[in-house]
Amino acid sequence: MQTTQRTFVFNALLFVVALLALGAAYAQTGAPSPEAPAALPNGINFSGAYTPDDVAYFQDDLERLHRDLPEWWQYVLDARPFTIVIDPRTARGAIVAVTECCDASGSGTVRFGYHLSEISTGSDPDSQSAEARRVAFLGMLAHELTHVRDLRAGRFTVKTDRKSCVDAETSGLSQQLAIKRDLAAGGAGGVTAWLTEQIRSENRDLHSRSFWDWYCAAFE
Ligand SMILES: [Zn+2]
Repeated sequence: MQTTQRTFVFNALLFVVALLALGAAYAQTGAPSPEAPAALPNGINFSGAYTPDDVAYFQDDLERLHRDLPEWWQYVLDARPFTIVIDPRTARGAIVAVTECCDASGSGTVRFGYHLSEISTGSDPDSQSAEARRVAFLGMLAHELTHVRDLRAGRFTVKTDRKSCVDAETSGLSQQLAIKRDLAAGGAGGVTAWLTEQIRSENRDLHSRSFWDWYCAAFE
């Protein structure tokens, strides 16, 4: 009887130890870590060759917009539903992103040819800093989501000749320029000189015949 009791106590002790171990394991894996990103907003999805870094980069950008430029945060959210696809096959020459809208479920698709943190607007050293790349990505995001919004609203749905290409792309490039102007007005973390030149050059492009000859060359 005494032996049985002792065995029972021993088993009960083992059980408590096991529970404590389980609790410790749960505390390590089950509790959210401080760096864990919040969930993506409903209606924004990732697909293709994306990595957790792409999602984290996007979420960080979204948080910055929410904090610094809430009207642009709203602009991104208003383009939902959309899916960001990382697809290296998209990258061809000057083409970095391609947008379609809408699929059978009403969702837009923005395909980027590179991982999001690798997108830049040039090969010069100034364009390669982390902050310059972030500005480049946000500009491109605003551009492509403008296409999503336009297409969903039935605007510029046919891009078959020079005029329709210029019309659709003027809409996208104008918003790309607008978000860069707002980022510049907010200080843009140490890339002010670079960004000022970007804005000057993109504004010149919008009104340049030779730029459009090149940009819409496929539709001549
Ligand atoms: Zn475009």
